[in-house]
Amino acid sequence: MSAATIERIETSLIDLPTIRPHKLSVATMHGQTLMLVKVFCSDGVVGVGEGTTIAGMAYGPESPEAMKLAIDAYFAPAMIGRDACRIQALMDYLGKLVKVNHFAKSALETALLDAHGKRLGVPVSELLGGRRRDRLPVAWTLASGDTARDIAEAEQMLEARRHRIFKLKIGARAPEADIAHVAAIKKALGDRGAVRVDVNMAWSETQAAWAIPALADAGCELVEQPVAGAAALARLMRRFPVALMADEVLTGPESAFEIARGHGADVFAIKIEQNGGLFAAQRVAAIADAAGIELYGGTMLEGAVSTIASAHLFAGFAELQWGTELFGPLLITEDILARPLDYSDFALTVPSGPGLGIELDEARIKRFTRPGLTKATTARD
Ligand SMILES: [Mg+2]
Repeated sequence: MSAATIERIETSLIDLPTIRPHKLSVATMHGQTLMLVKVFCSDGVVGVGEGTTIAGMAYGPESPEAMKLAIDAYFAPAMIGRDACRIQALMDYLGKLVKVNHFAKSALETALLDAHGKRLGVPVSELLGGRRRDRLPVAWTLASGDTARDIAEAEQMLEARRHRIFKLKIGARAPEADIAHVAAIKKALGDRGAVRVDVNMAWSETQAAWAIPALADAGCELVEQPVAGAAALARLMRRFPVALMADEVLTGPESAFEIARGHGADVFAIKIEQNGGLFAAQRVAAIADAAGIELYGGTMLEGAVSTIASAHLFAGFAELQWGTELFGPLLITEDILARPLDYSDFALTVPSGPGLGIELDEARIKRFTRPGLTKATTARD
């Protein structure tokens, strides 16, 4: 028997500045836009979810604006009046009504899980099967575009004991320049910090075949998505003494199965948004486990809501060999939570309160909400 139905769904766009320009091969980010969705239930419980992309539409087909439109026009009217407690059944239903739109689905599923956790008095991690760890190692991305500034930033992070795994965003410049950049940073950090790179699909297969050995020589331990295609990534496997990680090509369980079947990666970057939600991402992790592929907790540079949703999922993974990169909230100048997250001793603490275990600072969020666009859906069309 249902204890609660969905009464109202509210969406808004929050525009937040970043602490510095964040340079990727696909774009340079100066701010981050969060699409926040709130699900109001008949028992008075409210769940919150977030949809966020990397650099608008430069990274993939969804944008915060598009997610909001998809929810306002298609998802929300179909959800009003439905059982808020049968989350997987509701997501199955929505999956039939709306194809793909993975980021929007992840935001809605997060809000439903947050609400249900609050209703039952348990953290989202318990709804996902139970956590195995309370603290998650968090990598930091060095992406200022300047070698000296990146080294200074890494030194600050080591000094503050916030991060000791560093991911370098490369691929926008010639590979020779990138290799020199990686080598200089690794030389400066030595054994105090691990260095990995993310090429964000920028290289051709021949460029990758030439550049990866040089990166290995420079002390880089992992190369993320050096090429665009899954087949090209598979052909690069086992040719170099570094791990290769799949990211952009992982778009749900079907893609994960295909990559695993073709021995196409050493490591999967698991992202709840890219895979279409927490349950889908959990299935991707199960496929990786079965195939002997190692796991890394990825980010779409999300704000606190989706970052913590991801943390609840990653806390339950049997193995998390490469840690996480759940630093999104630290890239934003404004804290949108009433109580800040605990980033300390190179790790993030997974909140233990009901639902996501976080509380929004509504006054601060209001200041950064894009005016005139907040929409509430209260009745079926
Ligand atoms: Mg990546």
